Amino acid sequence: MPTRREMWERLGGDVDVLVVGGGITGSGIARDAVRRGLSVALVEMNDLAYGTSSRSSKLVHGGLRYLEQGELAMVFESVSERRILMDLAPHLVNPLGFLFPVYKGSRHNLFVINTGMWLYDGLSLFRSPKIHKNLKPKDVAELEPALDQKGLKGAPLYYDCSTDDARLTLETAIDAADQGAIVCTGAKVKRFLKGEDGRIRGALVEDTLHGGGTKEVRAKVVINATGPWTDATRALSSIPGQEHKKVLRPTKGIHIVVDAAKLPVKHAVVCFHPTDERVLFALPWGDRTYVGTTDTDFEGDPKDVAATLEDVDYLIDASNAYFPNHKIAREDVIATWAGLRPLVAPPEKTAGMSESDVSREHEILVGRDGLITIAGGKLTTYRRMSAEVVDTAVKLLRMQGGAKGLKPSRTDESPLPGGQGWPEDDDHDAVAKRVRAASEDRLEPDVARHLADNYGMRAMAIAKLVKEDPGLAHRLVAGRPEILAQVTYAATDELAASVTDVMVRRTQLFYRDVDQGLGCLDAVAHELARRLGWDERTQRAMCDAYRAEVALARRWKTEIR
Ligand code: FAD
Repeated sequence: MPTRREMWERLGGDVDVLVVGGGITGSGIARDAVRRGLSVALVEMNDLAYGTSSRSSKLVHGGLRYLEQGELAMVFESVSERRILMDLAPHLVNPLGFLFPVYKGSRHNLFVINTGMWLYDGLSLFRSPKIHKNLKPKDVAELEPALDQKGLKGAPLYYDCSTDDARLTLETAIDAADQGAIVCTGAKVKRFLKGEDGRIRGALVEDTLHGGGTKEVRAKVVINATGPWTDATRALSSIPGQEHKKVLRPTKGIHIVVDAAKLPVKHAVVCFHPTDERVLFALPWGDRTYVGTTDTDFEGDPKDVAATLEDVDYLIDASNAYFPNHKIAREDVIATWAGLRPLVAPPEKTAGMSESDVSREHEILVGRDGLITIAGGKLTTYRRMSAEVVDTAVKLLRMQGGAKGLKPSRTDESPLPGGQGWPEDDDHDAVAKRVRAASEDRLEPDVARHLADNYGMRAMAIAKLVKEDPGLAHRLVAGRPEILAQVTYAATDELAASVTDVMVRRTQLFYRDVDQGLGCLDAVAHELARRLGWDERTQRAMCDAYRAEVALARRWKTEIR
């Protein structure tokens, strides 16, 4: 894998397709396009999955609640994609049981929910991870003892999938790079290059990591996949006096993370908020549980999005209503994250509509300047959305006499890098054993399993690093499974270019460690400095930037209500 520096060197010159934005959508587009045989460059101003794609609820799901809104086509598409992603990334997309408790006086009765469940399973052509079943209160008490049992009438148990959104994005981008795409992080589009006919012919890209130099990237087609920045990117092409209309109504969603011992859930639990009846989840996450999400309109710069005290209290209230014997308080919150849904709908069209009612469907727009914009959608449907965008790009390329001799992208059957060679029976333990053996038993069993779960078959490469240098098996935080070799690998093979990239998106220490990784900051920075050639000043600046990231996620603690 070329380093980020090498990617920057390769950037420039001419490509068929320039993708702006390295979230799940942009990465999916780059993967699809390069697999069809197009020359592709993807530029991301920060890190892969820096935006919404590392801040979701981390579910690959049909979205049961969208059934109620009558969005059958979207649910059908999502459950079909769920099946495909389970095959493409079996290490990262894992079945998760969801309990839907129904109490006396609940808005929905068991019969209606059960009918919905049949429809949900039916839309997946009965290829859900498992078919739903109805649990009686005594079964629920046994399976999920922390849940409030008072007035419980029963709880359907259905299945969707959990994932690591940032790693799903990363592996999609890595596959694109493996196929020949230039994937350059720390590269921001400052303005578009235009021909005399007013059509976009590429972009001026700034190096946001090292020194701010710029490069011109010429492209036959440019795709705007910038999620919450969609309108800002479209505005880069506006002529004064002819500004583009806004297409997004971004809404903010936050999550809180607590110790699983404080809120012990074995399944995802579907909750309705006691004050406004919005749906949210309590989700099991190994040694942690997270609760989310909120849905509120957001105006401002997406980079400043953060949880407020009101958001945190809202989630705590819901959790305490459903788990009265496991009440959590503000001081139990280990971490928060906040993201923006890039929902499509000009704000005026949805005025008066509640945030949760704005559709999650996506839209592809082609401007008069030739810019293709993709907005909306879900993590779950990224692959199919990306294929549609590339179809549009191919049409524009053909109008210019290009895109000859393309092949099918086969993104529905080619596993992501970590899924290549994964066992058919999905036996994570068996892979963990192989990983441990590859390290000549220098990795402890829990670490080997952690690596198998997160990297799939690519964990073998990390095991080899440890075999060659046993010091890399050092745990970054005592008692936790994250090790130093993951930092090395992030720098050499996963395009990580900052401490924050490693803490937040390559490992999840930012969310999972009680100290959000601050205790191992120096060790991480030192290893990255060694691999990426940072001087001391850079190292210090990288640590400060990470501290600022943590401070933003903890800012709610300084608020008073
Ligand atoms: P992003 O991930 O935001 O990527 C856009 C990228 O563009 C950013 O990385 C940004 O840095 C880059 N960029 C911006 N401007 C420039 C520029 N000028 N030059 C270069 N780069 C630029 N979906 C699901 O399927 N399941 C879920 O459980 C789920 N939960 C969600 C929960 C929440 C709270 C939210 C907010 C969303 C959730 N979603 C979920 C939706 C899903 O996360 C998003 O639809 C998806 O991640 C959007 O990805 P994206 O690539 O379009 O945008």
